[in-house]
Amino acid sequence: MKRHIAVYPGSFDPITYGHLDIIHRGLQVFDEVVIAVARNSEKRALFTIEERVEMIRQTVEDADRLRVDTFDGLLVDYVAAQGARVILRGLRAVSDFEYEFQIAQMNRTVQEEVETMFMMTAVPYGYLSSSIVKEVASLQGPVDAFVPPLVRLALEAKFGPHKELL
Ligand code: ADP
Repeated sequence: MKRHIAVYPGSFDPITYGHLDIIHRGLQVFDEVVIAVARNSEKRALFTIEERVEMIRQTVEDADRLRVDTFDGLLVDYVAAQGARVILRGLRAVSDFEYEFQIAQMNRTVQEEVETMFMMTAVPYGYLSSSIVKEVASLQGPVDAFVPPLVRLALEAKFGPHKELL
């Protein structure tokens, strides 16, 4: 039987519980999920590619059905090279829609065999993004509710430990 593989691309700078929710739900639907960290996001990122991959690897089990990788260049070419036909993306507020719609249209124009499929965020993560987490951490706010403990430690290494709430 053919394995249905989905590529879940992103910056993952850093990985959050919102990403992890999409990954776990993706595994319910697809035989295999490839978490693909975009190398072209390096310039504006807080963490290096290696740091981001390492944090993901320590958070999820890099097993038979789940792989962590990086990619460069056109996403659709990478997807085809993986033997996959699906790009998996998460959708949060309406504000995600315009951007995601544009990218999905563009990807389909370049490679019409590749489908982009969206999963709606889980309610608790609807407003959670890596950017918000970085902003809170940079102000020494608590990020425990948003990221796994090892990511919190990595953020504290960059910005200092968070202040206790009064
Ligand atoms: P990118 O720079 O490609 O948007 P991100 O790491 O920010 O990379 O996001 C990767 C994917 O994960 C995107 O499809 C994004 O919508 C999705 N995502 C991020 N945070 C959440 C969340 N809280 N709930 C659902 N999907 C999310």
